[in-house]
Amino acid sequence: MKLHEYQAKELFAKAGIAVPKGRLITSAGELNTALQDIPGPPWVVKAQVHAGGRGKGGGVKLVHSREEAAEAVEHLLTNRLVTPQTTAEGVAVHQVLIEEGVDIDKEFYLGMTVDRAVARPTMIFSPSGGMEIEEVAQQSPELIFKEPVSPATGWMPYQSRNLIYRLSPLPSPETIKELATTMKKLVDLFMQNDCSLLEINPLVITKQGAVMALDAKMSIDDNALYRHKDLAALDDSREKDPLEVMAEKANLNYIRLNGNIGAMVNGAGLAMATMDVIKLAGAEPANFLDVGGGASEEMITKGFEIILKDERVKAILINIFGGILRCDVLARGVLAAAKKTEIPVPLIVRLEGTNVEEGRKILEDSDLDFLVAKDMAEAAQLVAREAKRSVLS
Ligand code: ADP
Ligand code: MG
Repeated sequence: MKLHEYQAKELFAKAGIAVPKGRLITSAGELNTALQDIPGPPWVVKAQVHAGGRGKGGGVKLVHSREEAAEAVEHLLTNRLVTPQTTAEGVAVHQVLIEEGVDIDKEFYLGMTVDRAVARPTMIFSPSGGMEIEEVAQQSPELIFKEPVSPATGWMPYQSRNLIYRLSPLPSPETIKELATTMKKLVDLFMQNDCSLLEINPLVITKQGAVMALDAKMSIDDNALYRHKDLAALDDSREKDPLEVMAEKANLNYIRLNGNIGAMVNGAGLAMATMDVIKLAGAEPANFLDVGGGASEEMITKGFEIILKDERVKAILINIFGGILRCDVLARGVLAAAKKTEIPVPLIVRLEGTNVEEGRKILEDSDLDFLVAKDMAEAAQLVAREAKRSVLS
């Protein structure tokens, strides 16, 4: 689960990591009151959306007067924001953070994530902050430094020094101390909140010599949310794909992809393999949908409804291996969904496993129009062919 910048910064401030003074507003009318509490001008007006790269897309604006601030807020709240990390249609902006404009002397990158290769939470630091860290990682990987956290010792003070001493010229002793404290606090924040990602880009040294987080990205491990009810309450479902929200409510594993083949599969492994064969057949999946090993008829119905709601889908593949989920349950779920909405695209079904005969019979006896595939390879070829046909027709 991703947090907004303003939410993460509230947690930073509570943890003792310095952030600029700021106020969140949701309408232009709240601007004047907000500005009274924030030192400035200059101020910075920042769109609160989950996508990054806002600076490049015009989602972060430095303003020098109340009028300019009002204009920027109005523009952000009434236009969709396109950044290098959004689709071409961009995203709607519902909230704007107004901040004091900070006098930046130096910008760094500081982050934490779990490094799977060493199986440890790992701090990442780069003197080349401010710009896109992905670019730095590609073009000058020697400027990215890492320190893993040992489960035995926790974060050690020398690790902060290892990272800070990469800076040239070295900051003042007071600033070095402040950077080291910030690093230690970042580790604590990461651990205490079960984060999967914490990112400060840029972490700055101000002209006044203070260390401050100007941006904040925080993602919480979904599997740990049950023990962070306060964080779970911060979830902003407006930022998510509506179909993903629907799937989440129905307990389905659904991920939107870029192709036009709707796929419904049971079990993550089979779903991955199905994506592979679809690609091998020269087509692209529109989604990953794992209805789970023991899906109920209602879950199947919901899953099928989600695929049908996706207008990009030009053909559907149902690939089920009946283990705990019986094939007859699957068939009834599909029919229940088909009753609610007509199926405007070709449907290909491949069923195997428990109660397969019964499942096939239920489908055959219905007035549902579908093609049967004898195995996965044929299923993929059929669905790729049918999708191509419906694109052309
Ligand atoms: P994004 O990473 O989405 O582009 P940031 O919050 O990092 O958004 O803002 C982009 C840039 O704007 C930062 O790299 C920083 O240079 C500048 N910036 C952001 N917040 C402030 C602030 N409060 N004062 C001064 N400059 C800021
Ligand atoms: Mg940033």
